[in-house]
Amino acid sequence: MKITKLTTYRLPPRWMFLKIETDEGITGWGEPVIEGKARTVEAAVHELGDYLIGQDPARINDLWQLMYRGGFYRGGAILMSAMAGIDQALWDIKGKSLNVPVWQLLGGLVRDNMKAYSWVGGDRPGDIIDGINKLKAIGFDTFKLNGCEELGFIDNSRAIDAAVNKVAQIRETFGNEIEFGLDFHGRVSAPMAGILINELEPYRPLFIEEPVLAEQAEYYPKLAAKTHIPIAAGERMYSRFEFKRVLQAGGLSILQPDLSHAGGISECLKIAGMAEACDVSLAPHCPLGPIALAACLNIDFVSWNAVFQEQSMGIHYNQGAELLDYIKNKEDFTIRNGRFNPLTKPGLGVEVDEKLVIERSANAPEWRNPVWRHKDGSVAEW
Ligand SMILES: [Mg+2]
Repeated sequence: MKITKLTTYRLPPRWMFLKIETDEGITGWGEPVIEGKARTVEAAVHELGDYLIGQDPARINDLWQLMYRGGFYRGGAILMSAMAGIDQALWDIKGKSLNVPVWQLLGGLVRDNMKAYSWVGGDRPGDIIDGINKLKAIGFDTFKLNGCEELGFIDNSRAIDAAVNKVAQIRETFGNEIEFGLDFHGRVSAPMAGILINELEPYRPLFIEEPVLAEQAEYYPKLAAKTHIPIAAGERMYSRFEFKRVLQAGGLSILQPDLSHAGGISECLKIAGMAEACDVSLAPHCPLGPIALAACLNIDFVSWNAVFQEQSMGIHYNQGAELLDYIKNKEDFTIRNGRFNPLTKPGLGVEVDEKLVIERSANAPEWRNPVWRHKDGSVAEW
């Protein structure tokens, strides 16, 4: 079998799908994207395509190394996201050509179902409580919320109180019926992160995510030493070489590689194994579309240390399209009692509605991150 063509489709809300075709008629789908930089990743996918046309898609390990090492310069958000989507599509082709789900090729199931959690948007406690109630009614018991709005480098006690009061109201309303992680989203400086985590401890968040930016990763072990709350990070780390450094430094309890940003299934399987060796759990990051989610689930179902899976149903970013709009086998993604079942179709387990993808890609929005500014006009982390 030979790879003959790569086609990319930028799509609402802020996604990109990749179709890889072969001379035997089997096609694979991947989701290479950096949210807000879809065109840049698209260009990288097609540059990497030069290495792939005419090659045997079954040699995923070799093609991965060729894309990574063959170009001299490597790594980073753009190149590793482009490679991630290509890698997903190659696994999809392999599974389809052998007529088995990808998880079967990775050694088979290590669990029967996978716990999912749901984002709850909004910053007003009332809105968040309504959101949780709606999601509880359909079986979720685990959630993720933003830990705070923008926060100054050294901010005042009113800003701390606003963040803490929100969390306190949620814990008071639901008691221990629910669990919630708090995402600081890299918005918080190291000095403020220490204060905020300390103040939030009585409300027992399940984890604190990106308490500081990945660029400030040397603070993860320092912050972890001062709290019993698990620290999570990884969505802005792109290869096992970056994860190696944070695992060696210690401090993280939950690793969150993104299957569409960190080199795909091939790379994230290795990252999952490295985490297990360090007694660190895995919770793949996934605020993206259905192919990225399917890739995550294929890793979750073969990784003993996977603890919960993020998914984007109803997430505030999904404007113009929802998680399952572009796939035909929606029922395979049904969440029962807050859990996914293994995807059973050959390959990644997604049947892409190609006609709709082509139609909707004609008017793909140019999604951009909101730009936030502090009161003094300086740029704030979003
Ligand atoms: Mg996050």
